Amino acid sequence: MRFSALICLLILPCGALAGSETNPPEFPKAVSSEALVPEAAVPESASPDVGQFFVLANLEFTLLHEFSHMLIEELKLPVLGTEEDAADRIAMIVMLRARQHQSAEEVIPWLFAVAGDWYTEWELKDRPSGKIDYWDNHHLEIQRFHNIVCLIYGGKVELLEDLIDTEILPFERAMSCEAEYRQADHAVQWLLDTYGHSGKIMNTGEQFTVTYEEPIEGQNELMFDLLQSSRVAEKLVAALSARFSLPRPISIEFDNCVSEPDAYWHSPTASVTVCYELLGHFLNMAEYRQKNSRRACNIPSLRRYMGARLRCNDSNERAESEGEAKIELSSP
Ligand SMILES: [Zn+2]
Repeated sequence: MRFSALICLLILPCGALAGSETNPPEFPKAVSSEALVPEAAVPESASPDVGQFFVLANLEFTLLHEFSHMLIEELKLPVLGTEEDAADRIAMIVMLRARQHQSAEEVIPWLFAVAGDWYTEWELKDRPSGKIDYWDNHHLEIQRFHNIVCLIYGGKVELLEDLIDTEILPFERAMSCEAEYRQADHAVQWLLDTYGHSGKIMNTGEQFTVTYEEPIEGQNELMFDLLQSSRVAEKLVAALSARFSLPRPISIEFDNCVSEPDAYWHSPTASVTVCYELLGHFLNMAEYRQKNSRRACNIPSLRRYMGARLRCNDSNERAESEGEAKIELSSP
């Protein structure tokens, strides 16, 4: 669930561990050390379409987050802390593992596209009279952003040293990020070792169906085309099927939504639903991020890896035209 705590409370037993009994079989190390997501699920990093790149990265994170809810419930996984936070951490660790052999130029922009979305959600959130839902079982968007940045940094310390003591990674938090990353990575490894299967592997079709509602015209249609060409959902469920035997079939449904753009796991129907509108929302976030990138461009690591995607040169020109001082940067 991304946004609505209300729906989560009403229809999702978030935190409830219902489901049939599962006997955790052995999972061979040689297989369990592999990433959950095949590298084939990753589009070429040099995609000329920045918006499409942003949408696909966030689609992958969203699906992995909802699949984490599904696994927690279907396999009766123990959860300490909040389930929402656990789902975010599983998703991010899987994304990191899937790209352990990729270059920094490929992996860093992909992961920071997810962080960038959460930052933007917070930046643009309508908070009348400063009202903030501290009671929500989801962390605040800005907390989810910082938690994700911390995991990315913790997993890629050698690449992102100069993130420390910037706006997005305060020194005090940076000091715990390597340990946080190792802890979350260990938990995912435990999940694979304990619940991953080594015996008969079921066909993907026996465990998952992926369906697409006819998209309404406009942006939903464009998102439908992107889903069809990327096949992200199909690749992710194939990877999941290769590692887990689930107690009942799961359906993945892409749909037009009448309410807010969202994605959610729904236990009674054993389904994960993703609204086309959520993907359109990601596209809008990408465009906003590009037009409002000056602060991000002032952070050397982000400028180094994402300067072109964030149009950092353009943002400097915009800043100058607005009469602001040109940003001095220590890296190209
Ligand atoms: Zn959730």
